[in-house]
Order: sequence, then structure tokens, then C-alpha cells
Amino acid sequence: MKLLRYGPQGQEKPGCLDDEGRVRDLSGHVADIAGAALLPDEMARLMALDINSLPVVPGTPQEDLRLGPCVGQTGKFICIGLNYADHAAESGLDVPPEPVIFNKWTSAIVGPDDDVMIPRGSSKTDWEVELGIVIGKGGVYIDEANAMDHVAGFCVINDVSEREYQIERAGTWDKGKGCDTFGPTGPWLVTPDEVGDFNALAMWLEVDGKRYQDGSTATMVYKVPHLISYCSQFMSLQPGDIISTGTPPGVGMGQKPPVYLAGGETMRLGIQGLGVQTQVVKKA
Ligand code: ZN
Repeated sequence: MKLLRYGPQGQEKPGCLDDEGRVRDLSGHVADIAGAALLPDEMARLMALDINSLPVVPGTPQEDLRLGPCVGQTGKFICIGLNYADHAAESGLDVPPEPVIFNKWTSAIVGPDDDVMIPRGSSKTDWEVELGIVIGKGGVYIDEANAMDHVAGFCVINDVSEREYQIERAGTWDKGKGCDTFGPTGPWLVTPDEVGDFNALAMWLEVDGKRYQDGSTATMVYKVPHLISYCSQFMSLQPGDIISTGTPPGVGMGQKPPVYLAGGETMRLGIQGLGVQTQVVKKA
């Protein structure tokens, strides 16, 4: 099932995508794609619905019908750094001996096609296509063997990053990761049954039609179950939390010479089976 949230910013309603690419309204069955609605029993209830019996929402999603972030009320936006060997190399760093964890502030979360705003004073705003895990059932000290029981679904994330703020502004990385609009999330939350093998998903990112990132989750160093278990050693995970799992090579910082966003560009990015995002870059 592809769950989504549609409508104006801050007033999104729950919905899902049907086989014809139309949005169906889930308002009669769930208040929001958020919190307790992501627990396994609630997800099973939604997945048992006859989608074709639900009201059709007028408009074409991602064209004249805005989609919001595919999950609401996210409490924690956790990111994994340097989780692709080739990306670590282009960053001039070794693959870390255990996962690097950093944060994006939840105020960075926007819809998949909302504008990305370059922060004032920025000269090094960059992109990162990433596989996002959305937590369903919460937990702490989760065993790797049971980790997938805690996944509500997967989505596309653009881990937009300001490299000077991240690296050259007296630490920590978070300073360059959590700026407003730096976390486009969606278009849909795809349930694991529909994603299939999450270790073999093609992923890509283009700026103004030029493909910079062209990778696969196959080259992730630390895999999804390990990341869930690992994060849960340091914090409890709760429904609606997001873990963004790192980016493959091809970020702007890794180009020779480096390429950064100046405003006016269009970013397009996607992951196999999880949909496509499109963002226009503007100056804050
Ligand atoms: Zn990242």
C-alpha cells in the first residue's frame, strides 16, 4: 500500500494511491498517517480496506494536487552518515567502524515537491537521495532479528545539506543538516510488502536534468535491520520516527570541482518503487 498525505501545508489529509495513480481519501478510516496509526494492527486494518471503494480525491498527485510529507508528527528525524563506501571515499573519509548517527530537526520536514530554501549566508547547499525508514511499532534495544517488525514502511528522502555549516562551522554536522526545508519526505509511505527487497533498490538524483547520483541500496554498508537495532541502543524509537539511511556517491561536494546549489535549479530524485520528488531551489 502507498500511504500519503495530501492538501495544503499543515492541513494535510490521509490518503492512499490507487492502481490508476489517483489519490483515494482515507479520512473516514484514520485521522492522519502518523503516530498510533502506524502501529502494526492499525496498518493491517488500512491494508485490508478495498481501496477502490474509497472516495477519489480530485486532481493529479504531484501536479495539481499537493502532497505533504508522507508521515506526520515525526518525533525524531535520525540520519546515518557515510553509509555507502563510495560516498565515504568521495567525502575523503573512511567507512566508520560503526554507524554514524546525526539529526535533522523535524522542522526541516516538507512535502516531496515543496520548494527547498537555501539558508541565508549559504554557499555550499548540496543534495543527498536516501532511503527513509518510517518506524511503526516503537521499541528500545531492538534485536536485529526482529527489527523489521518495527517498520511501517519506506520512503524517499532528500537529505539536503549545507556543507560549510556541516563541516566548517565548529560542529556538529546537525548545524548543516536541519535547516528549514532540508528534509523533503515522500511522496508516499510504501509498506514493506510492496517494497520487496529493500537491499536492491535503484536510486538517483538529477539537478536540472543532469544525473549526479545513480546508485543502489545494494551498496549500503550497514543494512536496514542493523540500523534500526543500532539506533535503538541509544534511544527508544517511536511510531513516526524516521531513519534516513545515508546516500550513495554523486553529491555536489564530491564533484571536481564541487558543485553547489545557487538557487533556481530543479532537483529530481527517486528510488525504485518509492516514487519521485521534484523540488525547485530558492533563496531564503
Ligand atoms: Zn545523508
